[in-house]
Amino acid sequence: MKLWQRIKGLVNPEKKVGHFARLDGADFPDFEAGTVWLVGAGPGAAGLISIMGYYALGEADVIIYDALVGKELLKYANPNAQCIYAGKRGGKPSPKQKDISISLIDWAREGKKVLRLKGGDPFVFGRGGEESETLAKAGVKFRIVPGITSGIGGLAYAGIPVTHRDTNQAIIFLTGHDETGEVPHAVDWQAIATAAPVIVMYMAVKHLGSISDKLMSAGRGANDPLAILSNTTLPEQSVAITTLGEAAAFVAREDVPTPAIVVVGKVVNYREILNWYSPSENRIG
Ligand code: SAH
Repeated sequence: MKLWQRIKGLVNPEKKVGHFARLDGADFPDFEAGTVWLVGAGPGAAGLISIMGYYALGEADVIIYDALVGKELLKYANPNAQCIYAGKRGGKPSPKQKDISISLIDWAREGKKVLRLKGGDPFVFGRGGEESETLAKAGVKFRIVPGITSGIGGLAYAGIPVTHRDTNQAIIFLTGHDETGEVPHAVDWQAIATAAPVIVMYMAVKHLGSISDKLMSAGRGANDPLAILSNTTLPEQSVAITTLGEAAAFVAREDVPTPAIVVVGKVVNYREILNWYSPSENRIG
């Protein structure tokens, strides 16, 4: 079945489908058997996957997805695809990274069209680099389909532009923990604290107390606005606004939902006027 026929079946016939009907499988690169596509699912809302990612969902035989992939998205998968959870959350057993990479190779060698579906963008703090490296070394052909990263798209859903001409000409993206689960040791905190007016942090809630201390000791102002964006782009999105100086006490006191992105810098203030998002009843966001 062609992609447009599938889409037509999914949408309400009362709604306009003409534009969607223009898409045809022939417009996309061939999803060859025995290859792996690493696809970014976007931050959560199903509608934020790319058109190429959506096409791949319909073509794949095997879909190996992470915890942060919106569940709604799997409804758009090829109904015959085998969907395998490879998440590391929610108390379920966590497959080792090496095992995931090996299973990708195994499925590909069985001649399947393998879709590795990852939250946000596969190459942003998502180990897509490691996985594709393993595939390259094993001689398995792959393609990367970029996604909207939570550290940009998630901010947009909170009414926070990641850049604004009046506030910042640079951004720092930082992970809140390294491979051991501790505060990253290999970063130059002095440089991080002062190099850019905006710092966007992934996986930073757990160590926010010590991270904010390090930033302030390195010269970052305690009054710098700080936002914690939880479950962005999803119906349960929540946003907390505080300051760098208050952040440690805030996370100690409040039960901050995760996953969450932490943003430091004056761009946070734009939320006061740009807070546009209210969860809708549309399935895709
Ligand atoms: N590759 C992903 C990031 C994976 S690391 C991306 O590009 O977005 C996992 C971290 O991403 C989480 O700890 C959190 O900091 C962030 N994250 C992912 N989805 C999120 C969401 N919907 N809301 C808030 N933070 C999110």
